[in-house]
Amino acid sequence: APGEWDDIEISRAQTPKPVDQLAQEIGLLQEETEAYGRTKAKVRLSLLDRLREQPDGKYVLVAGITPTPLGEGKSTVVIGLVQALSAHLKLNSFACLRQPSQGPTFGVKGGAAGGGYAQVIPMEEFNLHLTGDIHAITAANNLVAAAIDARMLHEATQTDKALYSRLVPSVNGDRRFSPIQIARLRRLGISEIDPSALTPQEVSSFVRLDLDPAKVTWQRVVDTNDRFLRKITVGQASTEKGHVRETQFDIAVASEIMAILALADGLGDMKTRLGRMVVGSSRSGQPVTAEDLGVSGALAVLMKDAIKPTLMQTLEGSPVFVHAGPFANIAHGNSSVLADKLALKLVGEDGFVVTEAGFGADIGMEKFFNIKCRASGLRPNIVVLVATVRALKMHGGGPNVSAGSPLPREYIDENLSLVAKGCSSNLRKQIQIAHLFGVPVVVALNVFKTDTQAEINLVCQMAKESGASDAVPCHHWALGGRGSVELAQAVKQASSQPSHFQFLYSQEKIRMIAQKVYGADDIELSPEAKAKIDYYNQQGYGKLPICMAKTHLSLSHLPEKKGTPTGFTLPIRDIRASIGAGFIYPLVGTMSTMPGLPTRPCFYDIDLDPVTEEITGLF
Ligand code: ADP
Repeated sequence: APGEWDDIEISRAQTPKPVDQLAQEIGLLQEETEAYGRTKAKVRLSLLDRLREQPDGKYVLVAGITPTPLGEGKSTVVIGLVQALSAHLKLNSFACLRQPSQGPTFGVKGGAAGGGYAQVIPMEEFNLHLTGDIHAITAANNLVAAAIDARMLHEATQTDKALYSRLVPSVNGDRRFSPIQIARLRRLGISEIDPSALTPQEVSSFVRLDLDPAKVTWQRVVDTNDRFLRKITVGQASTEKGHVRETQFDIAVASEIMAILALADGLGDMKTRLGRMVVGSSRSGQPVTAEDLGVSGALAVLMKDAIKPTLMQTLEGSPVFVHAGPFANIAHGNSSVLADKLALKLVGEDGFVVTEAGFGADIGMEKFFNIKCRASGLRPNIVVLVATVRALKMHGGGPNVSAGSPLPREYIDENLSLVAKGCSSNLRKQIQIAHLFGVPVVVALNVFKTDTQAEINLVCQMAKESGASDAVPCHHWALGGRGSVELAQAVKQASSQPSHFQFLYSQEKIRMIAQKVYGADDIELSPEAKAKIDYYNQQGYGKLPICMAKTHLSLSHLPEKKGTPTGFTLPIRDIRASIGAGFIYPLVGTMSTMPGLPTRPCFYDIDLDPVTEEITGLF
């Protein structure tokens, strides 16, 4: 019976079809896939050229209301909906999900393969390592970090002449510039590319990036919740000759290279973006890029396979692309533009692609529209907004919900007044946010076994009164695709109505998001943030969209403020620039870019049977 089995037991009880069979069913040619084992395959981007003339399918975005720390089931809704559309409505459909981070998998929230009878299988392969994309991102990111510190040391300890003779290799006695070095000379305005003809000043400006150690903005990354890396000192060995500096680690999935993977529209575009990444500025205030460090070609090499989405399947055999990373709070947290584009071509005109934006609509969906749709040019037909009775009760004033502790009584017994208050605050506000962008909303109430019929009816009725085109309960967690047939029908119906998509902002962007989306009175910039804005404007970055790093647990910057907070000013602590990804990244309040572990993390329950090789405790 549903609920009696663990997610991993349900996953293991179903034998996935071989991935080459799945690839064939969805119309891929043999040479368009690269299998990783029996159940996963990378899909080559040449597919986009082959299907260029094919019209796109309908594009559905799944977002959510402000969640409890437990998650409200967006991934399960994506999977349940695709299972219902394909197996029950017999429509071509595809799910596009993000690859989970080891941080939550071993931390508080667990994996991200969905759950119950709405899962991607095999869930252990989905949740751990997958096809190595996050490892590739970590390797590429840390190569840049190593290049920065080594370069600063070498510049500090060598003469111009010594640097020059090492940086420009000698071939049969002649010095030759590499293509990346020729590009750097051009950027410096040096047209002479005969190495022997450079003046001493030209040699000096060519070999010295002159990075200011206090202005390095690039951080090292690791895909573990390791709070002790939030501030570190590097260079303490005597071999580094006193070049000690303070820096930090971020979680890998919130890195700029992850954002580039998610936003690039091909290998060439990815390579250009990687080269354009700004890692800091020189003592004279000039931005220094990955290309200046000579590392952009190597980064493209490290990332060449990661840019291909990974094909997997749901419990009921529907296709899924897994690509890019989670964390819509401290990153943009959407699956990749390429996965969505490939899927839209594969399903064809009458088909559906269901893609997910992380956390609440105030962050995940806002970034989907303002950042991802700007980059991709794609326009969604509808938003499915996921709500749960438990999160609505929390917004209606119910006691705190936390992972690892039993749910308070209010969440188990019927309580219509808390539900009603939650609907008229957070649910209504999140529907209005979707409408700011001109896109129709269907509310999907993800039903838990403690929800009563009166509570379910109340949510659906109040969602429609708040402007949703439709609102339906769904039971995919307990029943798989057949539990989401009503949702699939509502989605099909709603996506035939016109959507009038518009971007939210063109200027005053941070203030616009704070006021229109979060409901803040105003923003307050720290002196650091103000100085960065001036510098970025001066460098010409002022037109880039914004990726706010804000808590997902509230519409405001204060996680404890539930419902629809009002009367607050949004503090902007600092601002970073992700020039390769193409956004400005304000850090709101005390939001950290490296999560921590709780006292009893998920890893306590995760184990391996060495005889059967079975994993237990993953969810
Ligand atoms: P999100 O994508 O919104 O973060 P998930 O889909 O990952 O949320 O679901 C969070 C957790 O809640 C998962 O462990 C999932 O199995 C569980 N869950 C989701 N829906 C239900 C439900 N209807 N009943 C019981 N558990 C559920």
